[in-house]
Amino acid sequence: MANLTQMKPRLGISACLIGKAVRYDGEHKMDQVVVAALEQHFELVPVCPEVDCGMGVPRESMRLKGNVIAPRLVTISSHIDRTDQLERWTKRRIAEMKQEKLAGFVLKSGSPSCGLSVNVYDDKDVVAGNVSGLFARRVTAGLSRRLVAEAEQLHDESFRTDFIQRLRTFAQK
Ligand code: SF4
Repeated sequence: MANLTQMKPRLGISACLIGKAVRYDGEHKMDQVVVAALEQHFELVPVCPEVDCGMGVPRESMRLKGNVIAPRLVTISSHIDRTDQLERWTKRRIAEMKQEKLAGFVLKSGSPSCGLSVNVYDDKDVVAGNVSGLFARRVTAGLSRRLVAEAEQLHDESFRTDFIQRLRTFAQK
């Protein structure tokens, strides 16, 4: 007989939020409140786009630069453009997520890869706009905006309850 974990719907989550030390500085961003709430209902599937596409830990931190419509993911000091590396991996991973039937995704805010609302800087390092990170925008397009949230949003109990219900309803279809 399948155990309870196997029977729970699967939910993607930025790996640093569940305590994986995958951030650029070798740290994590464990979010106990969110993880404890989600684990009751879902099997959490950790994904770190930057590490999983081969960037390693530690790594130079990055930001979004250039055109607000099509920003590039660039390292802050050495100005290396990592966009194509992340995009190639992301397209493949999103296709896999659909096959894995992930109910949705919970993202880490503020990251140029995972954040839903991140600054884009122009050539003079001035903020030119605010967009979703490269991985976040493809997750949102691939799954559905209603099934994607940032962990910070889930600290609001009524938002969290509604989000969990939406995911459970989707997973039962
Ligand atoms: S925010 Fe995303 S890319 Fe950055 S460490 Fe967390 S999972 Fe990896």
